[in-house]
Amino acid sequence: MKCRRCKEVAIIDLPSHNFAFCKECFLMFFEKQIQKGIEEFNLISEGDKVLVALSGGKDSLVLMLVLSKLGYDVTGFHIDLAIGQSSIKAREVCERFCEKHGLTLVVKEMAKEGLAIPSVKRALKRPICSVCGKIKRYYFNQTARELGFDSLATGHNLDDEIARLTSNTLRWDRAYLSDQGPFLPEAEGFRKKIKPLWRVTEYESAHYSFLMGIENHYAPCPYSSGASFSVLKSLWVDLELAMPGRKIDFYQGFLTRGRPAFQAEEKIKGKNLEPCETCGYPTSSGSICGVCRIRLAVEERVKEMEDEMSYDFMDSDPKDVVEASPE
Ligand code: SF4
Ligand SMILES: [Zn+2]
Ligand SMILES: [Zn+2]
Repeated sequence: MKCRRCKEVAIIDLPSHNFAFCKECFLMFFEKQIQKGIEEFNLISEGDKVLVALSGGKDSLVLMLVLSKLGYDVTGFHIDLAIGQSSIKAREVCERFCEKHGLTLVVKEMAKEGLAIPSVKRALKRPICSVCGKIKRYYFNQTARELGFDSLATGHNLDDEIARLTSNTLRWDRAYLSDQGPFLPEAEGFRKKIKPLWRVTEYESAHYSFLMGIENHYAPCPYSSGASFSVLKSLWVDLELAMPGRKIDFYQGFLTRGRPAFQAEEKIKGKNLEPCETCGYPTSSGSICGVCRIRLAVEERVKEMEDEMSYDFMDSDPKDVVEASPE
């Protein structure tokens, strides 16, 4: 197999594009795909300051590296969720990556915000991943606003987008279908959200990461079920194998023909957003936003635990306490 561009020995075959490439030509092709994806929807305007969400996973690191190589003004943003070793390792990977490439990194620590994820999990009786996602979106937007960034970039690739689109379509979730895409404009206190990797697949991103020697974060979150969209992704593997190019066609078709129809409908409904009385964040869920309510629940749970402990202590026989002490 020969490289389509320079006729050297190819190292990667991309049937969906009908191309094979050597290392150098693949790296160039990959970066051009990102640039093309940015230009197609004008994701980044001239002079934009972009805050890039870095989880420690390969896609977010690939995104940060490519955007900086393409000359965009990028700063990394990592949220330390305080989930034991998983968070320690993720943070270290982001810190090493930014140091190695001379990139700026902003870190927000959830423990300092009263929202360490293990405490949130103890305080709430809801699935932790949806709450964690809400907290991450909140701080991503809030930090971008506070520090004067124009847009927020995430490392969602074509496979992530296709799996999400399939999931939204299977449920005919009109609100989500109206919002999905590589670009969400700035609105009512929310910064512009962009997904510059929308044209590249997980396979391509993994190859780019490997060929560029990007260190990945391998310690999975202990709360992860590992099942995020995996069934839908594997369905698409078979489909793409049988019909190369179907993924990007389906997604682009949705963006040009499907999404506008859902957007028109959702616009009529509108959303009434008001600033949160506690933190000023735009919210449609009453006077206090979702994250401030989560923080209050954590504080209440901590207080309850302290009360329980002091009650147990008061209730115990003083003799037992003396006997139990090392003295
Ligand atoms: S797996 Fe769930 S709890 Fe863990 S980081 Fe991801 S969203 Fe948060
Ligand atoms: Zn080549
Ligand atoms: Zn709030």
